[in-house]
Amino acid sequence: MTVEIISVGTELLLGNILNTNAQFLGEKCALLGLSMYNQTVVGDNRERLGDAVVTALGRSDIVILTGGLGPTEDDLTKETCAKAMGMELAEDRHTRERIKEYFKNNIYKEIPDNNWKQAMVPAGAIVLDNHNGTAPGLILEKDGKRAILLPGPPDEMIPLFTEQVEPYLQKLRPELIVSRMVKICGMGESQVEDKLLDLIDKQTNPTIATYAKTGEVHVRVTASAPTAEVADRLIRPVVKEIKKRMGTFVYSTKEEETLEMAVVRLLKKHELTAATAESCTGGLVAGRLVNVPGASEVFKEGFVTYSNKAKRKHLDVNKNTLKKYGAVSRETAKEMAIGGALATGSDLCVAITGLAGPDGGTEEKPVGLVYMACCFGEKVTVEKYQFKGNREKIREQSVVRALDLVRRTVLENKN
Ligand code: ATP
Ligand code: MG
Repeated sequence: MTVEIISVGTELLLGNILNTNAQFLGEKCALLGLSMYNQTVVGDNRERLGDAVVTALGRSDIVILTGGLGPTEDDLTKETCAKAMGMELAEDRHTRERIKEYFKNNIYKEIPDNNWKQAMVPAGAIVLDNHNGTAPGLILEKDGKRAILLPGPPDEMIPLFTEQVEPYLQKLRPELIVSRMVKICGMGESQVEDKLLDLIDKQTNPTIATYAKTGEVHVRVTASAPTAEVADRLIRPVVKEIKKRMGTFVYSTKEEETLEMAVVRLLKKHELTAATAESCTGGLVAGRLVNVPGASEVFKEGFVTYSNKAKRKHLDVNKNTLKKYGAVSRETAKEMAIGGALATGSDLCVAITGLAGPDGGTEEKPVGLVYMACCFGEKVTVEKYQFKGNREKIREQSVVRALDLVRRTVLENKN
């Protein structure tokens, strides 16, 4: 079954807003096992939108449109789709009541006239209640083709899709689509692919796809089967094989678990506490850890020691070390980690010092050079990285590596 997306809005064409709806829907449709070959962005123009709808319905089974469902003159999606599918508009009593209800608690006493326009729906359409706005979502079915109309604002579109459209699409497919994610850190995408090449080459059901994220690679294993049990039986051995090949590079097989969540989980499991001593990442590592609910059990303190003086004051980094090797050095990173662990009494401390640029690089120490260290008891691991990209990218990659260093340190010392 094929699906395509039409994103409606002149703002999208002008680059005023990012088309996050298409990204969300693209990912969701792939997970539902629907094939997508086209996406269109079109402005708020009756004729061009009409052409786009006719073209899309001509080549795909399902067309999902977002945007242009509002009450104003430039909101044309509903009228245009109805026309393209030869459907007349008629008032939907239920939606009319919902609009009344929606405005009951509104600061505006009067319901604007054009809001009633939203109660007009193509005759025979499936109306999807929008709990976060007035424009209902709509599903139009005709001659085996389907147009699914959703409002543009993501906080309306996403709940409508997950609560009402997803179950509808799932029913259209005879088979169930189930997927599992294997999350990998510390290995590049091509390296991962290399190790899985034979599995990827012979994939049919389940399929294997890799996605590169900053500092991470996610491998999605997707099976299509009549029941969840059968899908699980297909997926399980493949996930097991991937885990076997990737070893400790795998940090999670849970869809919703982030790297920092995995780190906190691991620290909790081994009843360890951690601290951070950050220079170029300026507290980002601590921030990521604190993002995790319940992090307070394992994360006690974090230092942002940007200047040499701060490194000496809070982490007791030796003056001579800084003078001899510089702030961005193996030696300083090591002393920062030891100093952080001592100052906080934590079981473990991760330290990061590097050159995020854009200025300050030399031939010997180029921009992107980052040292990180992890002190665990008597043991200190120091790693050197040469990251590419701008300041933001260098810092982002450093954070991921630092979190992963904590994870690997715990694994190495506790298994
Ligand atoms: P409204 O009732 O708010 O007018 P609408 O369904 O008519 O909703 P649009 O007018 O097209 O939708 O867009 C409203 C807002 O929704 C945009 O200003 C933008 O913030 C957001 N939006 C629209 N389309 C997208 C998209 N493809 N991706 C992300 N956000 C979007
Ligand atoms: Mg609008």
